[in-house]
Amino acid sequence: MATRESMEGKRINEVFSEDFLTTTFWMYWRTMFAFEERHSALEMKLYLNRFIHLIGGLPDFTALKFTKYNQYESLVLPLYRWLLDQGVTFRFGTEVTDVDFAITADRKTATAIHWIAEGVSGGIDLGDDDLVLTTIGSLTENSDNGDQHTPAKLDQGPAPAWDLWRRIAAQDPSFGHPDVFGSHIPQTKWESATVTTLDRRIPAYIEKIAKRDPFSGRVVTGGSVTATDSSWLLSWTVNRQPHFKQQPQDQIVVWVYSLFVDKPGDYVKKSMQECTGEEITQEWLYYMGVPLAEIAELAAEAATCVPVMMPYITAFFMPRQANDRPAVVPSNAVNFAFLGQFAEAGTRDTIFTVEYSVRTGMARVPEEPSRTPLP
Ligand SMILES: Cc1cc2nc3c(=O)[nH]c(=O)nc-3n(C[C@H](O)[C@H](O)[C@H](O)COP(=O)(O)OP(=O)(O)OC[C@H]3O[C@@H](n4cnc5c(N)ncnc54)[C@H](O)[C@@H]3O)c2cc1C
Repeated sequence: MATRESMEGKRINEVFSEDFLTTTFWMYWRTMFAFEERHSALEMKLYLNRFIHLIGGLPDFTALKFTKYNQYESLVLPLYRWLLDQGVTFRFGTEVTDVDFAITADRKTATAIHWIAEGVSGGIDLGDDDLVLTTIGSLTENSDNGDQHTPAKLDQGPAPAWDLWRRIAAQDPSFGHPDVFGSHIPQTKWESATVTTLDRRIPAYIEKIAKRDPFSGRVVTGGSVTATDSSWLLSWTVNRQPHFKQQPQDQIVVWVYSLFVDKPGDYVKKSMQECTGEEITQEWLYYMGVPLAEIAELAAEAATCVPVMMPYITAFFMPRQANDRPAVVPSNAVNFAFLGQFAEAGTRDTIFTVEYSVRTGMARVPEEPSRTPLP
């Protein structure tokens, strides 16, 4: 019920007491949405307002909806193909480095885009009739994949998505404050991993906990399962299988993630950030109830694991003030808009969702009655 203004710049643990932060409710909430106590109280308020009506469906996850396959194959590829059919040109591998703006008392106009494509600088001049829709910042910037024998690296080097927003923001006070979000890697990093099982031994343990056959082609865990006493605060989930269209029928893909990536594990005694894929699988199997004598062998032979370190994944949960995110359409903007999780849509919607980013695009592009339906 608190106002947005009263929550600005505050952390969750400044607003909620220790009594709340030890509840089962907070355990559900933080592990499902990746909230940490140091994150934004304002965003926590918006999440409570947005999702509290689903609370009855949380214990068994009937509240959650899933695409048939992973989101890339179920959402991104169909949209991409549809857009190609509409005549859209995609230029992959091009890094946009800057957007120039001409700013006067009553007009803000994007005048040029600069980029580097395959090492070659390029650009385009813009007029009032062009539209520049720019995603600013990115939760997956500089993500690094490890493998079964290599930990994922924490990349703290140059970050083009953030640098682009920094250059844009330097041109006008209404273009936001990227460093509120993108300059706090220790607070915004998070690691996740996919474990692919290679034979029937690990799926038998999944079935024991989920009480469902993971090979049935139907819902398996239905949402995340959390080892509430794990030092990493480790959660895992098995979506409907196969999760990838080309996935062999006898394999199961499991998503594993932890909220505390710097704390030593209970089995491997290392932090998740230091672990190879094999070691992450060991820690997970420990919490799956696999007998100690079998853990090392199963992690080495019965699965393969890819860890992913994402330095900025919860950047949007950093405590923020009203003007830290620019409006989707800043005042007096003539031919541009900002999209994505770091643009303020002015709605009650919450950040860490595909839906929010889609909504920022909808806020700029007016509805057209004769739109071709999506397949
Ligand atoms: C592990 C994980 C789990 C998630 N789970 C869920 C979930 O269950 N439900 C849900 O709704 N959402 C979930 N999300 C969030 C969802 O994926 C994001 O909110 C959404 O993808 C954001 O879309 P976007 O287009 O705004 O930004 P992004 O997906 O970040 O896209 C930005 C794009 O811009 C590109 N780019 C950046 N800088 C430049 C540059 N300078 N030049 C050229 N290109 C550039 C990037 O490479 C990227 O392709 C999850 C995200 C992660 C990482």
